[in-house]
Amino acid sequence: MGDEKITIKSYRDIPITPVSLGRMSVNKTGSWRNAEPFYEEKAPPCNLSCPAGTDVVDFLHLIGEGKYQEGWELILNTNPFPGICGRVCPHPCERDCNRGNMGGTVNVHMLERFLADVNFDRKLKPRFIESRKKQSIGVIGSGPAGLSCAYQLARRGYKTTVYEALPEAGGMMRLGIPDYRLPKDVLEQEIDYIIAHGVELKLNTRVGHDISFEEIRKKHDAVFIGTGFLLSRSLGADGEDLEDVLPGIEVLRKIAFKDDIALGDRIVVVGGGNTAMDVARSVLRMGSQPRVVYRRSRQEMPAIAEEIEDLLQEGIPIDFLTLPVKVHGDENGSILKVECVRMELGEPDASGRRRPIPIEGSNFEIEADMVITAIGEQPDLRFLPSDVKSESWGILVDGYGRTNLEDIFAGGDTATGEGTVTHAVGRGRQAAIAIDSYLQGKDLPPCEEIERYLQDRSRHMVTWEEINPAYFNLEERIEPRGIPIPQRVESFEEIYSGFSEAEALKEAQRCFSCGTCPECDNCLIFCPDAAISRVPGSRYQINYDYCKGCGICVAECPRNSMSIKVLK
Ligand code: FAD
Repeated sequence: MGDEKITIKSYRDIPITPVSLGRMSVNKTGSWRNAEPFYEEKAPPCNLSCPAGTDVVDFLHLIGEGKYQEGWELILNTNPFPGICGRVCPHPCERDCNRGNMGGTVNVHMLERFLADVNFDRKLKPRFIESRKKQSIGVIGSGPAGLSCAYQLARRGYKTTVYEALPEAGGMMRLGIPDYRLPKDVLEQEIDYIIAHGVELKLNTRVGHDISFEEIRKKHDAVFIGTGFLLSRSLGADGEDLEDVLPGIEVLRKIAFKDDIALGDRIVVVGGGNTAMDVARSVLRMGSQPRVVYRRSRQEMPAIAEEIEDLLQEGIPIDFLTLPVKVHGDENGSILKVECVRMELGEPDASGRRRPIPIEGSNFEIEADMVITAIGEQPDLRFLPSDVKSESWGILVDGYGRTNLEDIFAGGDTATGEGTVTHAVGRGRQAAIAIDSYLQGKDLPPCEEIERYLQDRSRHMVTWEEINPAYFNLEERIEPRGIPIPQRVESFEEIYSGFSEAEALKEAQRCFSCGTCPECDNCLIFCPDAAISRVPGSRYQINYDYCKGCGICVAECPRNSMSIKVLK
């Protein structure tokens, strides 16, 4: 026709044109395809790093939908302590959060706490997953490891008895972590929920003193040991036996149980871990002037980073690279001075941290009325029969918490020694699964299949490069409000308040849902062949008769929950 123009004034002017009268569905363009997209959920970094195996992404998603009870119940499947972990867990789940590249990592621990707070006082019915069983399990120690193990076994229908040396349950969550970080009513509410599952608690029952280990072993079909680290390590300095040199755990225990304790005015707290931080911050609240001395630098301090920051903000000085070598007392046994030596850092030691080396001739003295040592704790395993294999640092167990004796299991600080509440919770649950398998004569599931714990680790972890940032707004992380510093050091009142509902919703919706499909419909909207459809009961279906393998759906998936494979 060349450049000739046609003016069409009515349908009669339309030139004769070939048209297809059949439907496009006869033309199965998918046969041209040499690549095939598919839905593949991948591991979000937060889920991979939760030591309790909690499904973080799913509970954030439930918060985002306003389903607070469902979110809380989801956590309770793996961890009976969301209110506690939401407050004290050093939140490894936030470490690799991909949101860190767009406004800061998602404040997961505050959202976990929100779910516990918003459901506070809600009395959920205990959930027995399986029918009642005849066998019983004796659990020694009511810390997070022991209680988590007892809870998981009770949910599986077992009769479970927890033997606890102290007059109250909770282990270090009660006697170590002070109220300004973890109020006791939160602890009590979560322990009550465990007990409501039929877990029997025998308090004031020290195994090895009030009842022998062998007696417990005879009474029960299996035993779990979760006795933690109760003994303070000694300083090894001259004068440590003076009356006013006290172990940190002992001081915290007395404060927690409201026992009488006479504190000096000027207190030197020795150590760089959580115990040292909590001792110093507690005695400050009781009117003393603490000062922390630590033999390495801030970088090597094992305490939770936020705790160090809060301690410094509260005005407590830290003498880094300082080691006490002698405590000088007067003839009445009272302390006068603490002699210290300055240190420098050498090559890394077995712990991976740089070894502190004393600088010759650098000795100096600090005036003090009291010294509190908090240089680490160790287990007290005197109750344990010699045929259970152990080392000075704890009981020897495999990846499931099994000792060398088939009916004895162990976990938490006394065995795996990871030193956090959430790790202890995870280890307690892992051992419960192993105990259940042992008692039922079932094969142990491979570690990777122990419910979600470890399972995710075999899946690909979604990285920042695999996220499609064009679909997300830059939104800043929401931080909690704290009591102003001058007031916070006047009492043991909890420092940080929880999120409001509006804050929780906003923060939860910042989650990218890395690798998991929240059904945003992007794949379906962008598919140029309309080959993707929603299917009742399942999320989406790709009709490969029409998919040409262009990969647009995969490229436009905001969170990498689709993949594509090349067909050979
Ligand atoms: P524990 O909590 O120590 O519990 C062991 C229980 O066993 C105790 O109740 C004990 O009385 C009982 N027991 C011991 N021997 C016997 C016996 N012979 N018979 C009967 N009962 C016995 N972790 C965090 O995640 N975040 C924090 O902020 C944090 N802060 C901490 C602050 C301090 C001061 C301390 C000391 C620890 C802190 N931790 C923190 C670490 C955390 O508390 C522990 O890692 C965790 O409690 C270990 O749990 P567990 O069950 O193994 O032992």
